[in-house]
Amino acid sequence: MNAIKNAIRDIPDFPKKGIVFKDITPLLNQPKLFQKVVDIFYSRYEGDRIQKVIGIESRGFILGSVLAYRLEAGFSIVRKTGKLPYKTIKKSYDLEYGTDHLEMHEDSIEADDRVLIVDDLLATGGTCNATIQLVEELKGKVVGCAFLIELSFLKGREKLKNYDVFSIVQYA
Ligand code: AMP
Repeated sequence: MNAIKNAIRDIPDFPKKGIVFKDITPLLNQPKLFQKVVDIFYSRYEGDRIQKVIGIESRGFILGSVLAYRLEAGFSIVRKTGKLPYKTIKKSYDLEYGTDHLEMHEDSIEADDRVLIVDDLLATGGTCNATIQLVEELKGKVVGCAFLIELSFLKGREKLKNYDVFSIVQYA
């Protein structure tokens, strides 16, 4: 766990003053650590019959797609507004540093699909909460929400209290 934490770089005042951005690119760059992260996620969810992994733009795409491959699940994406080409459903959400909208293709989930949501980092929980609403609008069942990093002091977990939330490393 220390090796994973040591490979996450703090970038102060990015993208705004007062935010300490957790940069996971040094971790992704190290094959054993990248593999370790995916293995930890895999062992947490391998028995859960996940049918769709949802990756949240953009670092959720990196972790989520590899995990989907290992879980033999489909992979769907949630993106910021205006980037998806087909018919979408949309939700607004609050970020640690702003407000935005998220979209998902309306055919990315089938009713009763067992869904795992993946992102690199849980901060206030607004992004994941909006993603849960999108999944549920399409009648998917959210089995879990998985994060590499949890900023515990922002209490995002409380916003997601009705769901199974898992994170690999935490910052208090
Ligand atoms: P939130 O909706 O507040 O939980 O924010 C989570 C989303 O914003 C994730 O997609 C993260 O990648 C990104 N994010 C928020 N805060 C940070 C941070 N301090 N460092 C890196 N990414 C962040």
